[in-house]
Amino acid sequence: MLKSELIERAARFRSAEGDPSRSLSDCPALVLNADYTPLSYYPLSLWPWQTAIKAVVLERVDIVSTYERAVHSPSWTMQIPSVIALRQYVRPSEFPAFTRFNVFLRDRFSCQYCGSPAHLTFDHMVPRRLGGRTSWENILTACAPCNMKKGGRTPQQAKMPPLIPPIRPTSWQLQERGRAFPPNHLHETWRDWLYWDVELEA
Ligand SMILES: [Zn+2]
Repeated sequence: MLKSELIERAARFRSAEGDPSRSLSDCPALVLNADYTPLSYYPLSLWPWQTAIKAVVLERVDIVSTYERAVHSPSWTMQIPSVIALRQYVRPSEFPAFTRFNVFLRDRFSCQYCGSPAHLTFDHMVPRRLGGRTSWENILTACAPCNMKKGGRTPQQAKMPPLIPPIRPTSWQLQERGRAFPPNHLHETWRDWLYWDVELEA
């Protein structure tokens, strides 16, 4: 599949966000680990500006980059941090969170029965009434027609084997997938710290 196609698919799942310089509440800080890689990708590690400033004051983080915007108190002025780095290294979790977006990302925003990118839903591979769990290993991205067609049957019963058996991805595997799916909005000061392919920024 072409990367441009993947991006187009991802775009459909992103909500339109405004310019984060617009208001204070839209000035989150990208949080980097002490090794200057993002603390997490999915979800992207972002802290609200208040949390970021508190962490700066407590000397738990270093400011890497700032927004133009500043906050004032009677005794000081501080530019709002846009990128901060933890002073103490936190071991990243090996597995990403089990979320709708991450399941779509694992499945490359395509139906795992027919490959279609349209009308995506989630399917319990083994239906719930047959004891199927809501887990990485049993939830698949499925287009609405395939979901309907399969109904309450197992893939064997429906003769619809998944193209790729669902697994619990590691953070690293999901990160590799994510290169094709940049998040909805990247502040310009974040770009250097993220792992997205440069060509995707155009
Ligand atoms: Zn399908």
